[in-house]
Amino acid sequence: MSKLFGKEIKPLTRACNLAAVPDIRYYFNKPRANLYVMVNNVCQANCRFCTQHGDYRKFDFDKFQKVIDELRRTTDENELCLSKINFTGGEPLLYFEKFEKLYNIIFEKFSFNELGNGNVVINTNGIGLKTLTERNDIMKNIGFVSVSRHHYDDKLNEEIFQTNTLPTTEDIKNFSLKNQGKLWLRCNCIKGYIDSTDEVIKYTDWAIDVGCKHCGFTSLMELNDYCKENYVYVDIPTIETLSLVTSSFRYDDNDKLCCNCNRSYYLNDKDDWCDLVTWNRNLEADSPKDGILVFDGEYLRYGFFGEVIC
Ligand code: SF4
Repeated sequence: MSKLFGKEIKPLTRACNLAAVPDIRYYFNKPRANLYVMVNNVCQANCRFCTQHGDYRKFDFDKFQKVIDELRRTTDENELCLSKINFTGGEPLLYFEKFEKLYNIIFEKFSFNELGNGNVVINTNGIGLKTLTERNDIMKNIGFVSVSRHHYDDKLNEEIFQTNTLPTTEDIKNFSLKNQGKLWLRCNCIKGYIDSTDEVIKYTDWAIDVGCKHCGFTSLMELNDYCKENYVYVDIPTIETLSLVTSSFRYDDNDKLCCNCNRSYYLNDKDDWCDLVTWNRNLEADSPKDGILVFDGEYLRYGFFGEVIC
């Protein structure tokens, strides 16, 4: 156990905490944690499957500074070191100056190497992508930007997000041309949109075309009526043109399966490739909170929606 603000935290023991496969032999030398920063709990989009945005909440920058100072101390004393920082939301790039302020607080105290040589990640719907394309000073410290994009067609993508504020195919291409290897795409499989193996292949071909080498697909989690009505399961690992590389399974403390993740390799007919990941969460199992720290704008919590640390 590690201690943060005097509270005991069970650290992460290996890099991919999803992978509970027995033949992973590499464990961290130091106790580590991932920090998720919920920059905003609001968003300009209006996805019907969303449960993540609420009313505007003030962000406590002083407390965030205290958290980063404490993590600096625990890092210096080898008590708890960071493995990854994830900017998330709502939409983290909604107010770019706010994101930049948090970015500066972090990088005034930590170097790129101390944060896993690029394990700082932004999870966005893409609203700030054009700005990031021009910000080499910020992008040099960002490992990758994970963009939610639920259709290859710009108009259908807008329809899902119910906004016209998102980057077009051309904008995404420009970003990835300037930031090679730093674009990840995440797609929800939704009835009537990406809902079959053919659609997954079309999406992946489009992803390769915009310069993406890593895309992920998931089914809607049954969080509301829209999700239930539009849920579709696409059996992606069985697609003939994919080679399954690994399957990993994560269990909770009671041996209940929490999630399953499949990583595959896709090669198109021009010999261009892309990694393709699918994951499924079991909502009936609790998600282990080992090494998961979440700053929700007001409090630092142990695990998502977990108990308050400070
Ligand atoms: S982009 Fe994300 S946070 Fe915004 S409405 Fe859609 S799911 Fe919710």
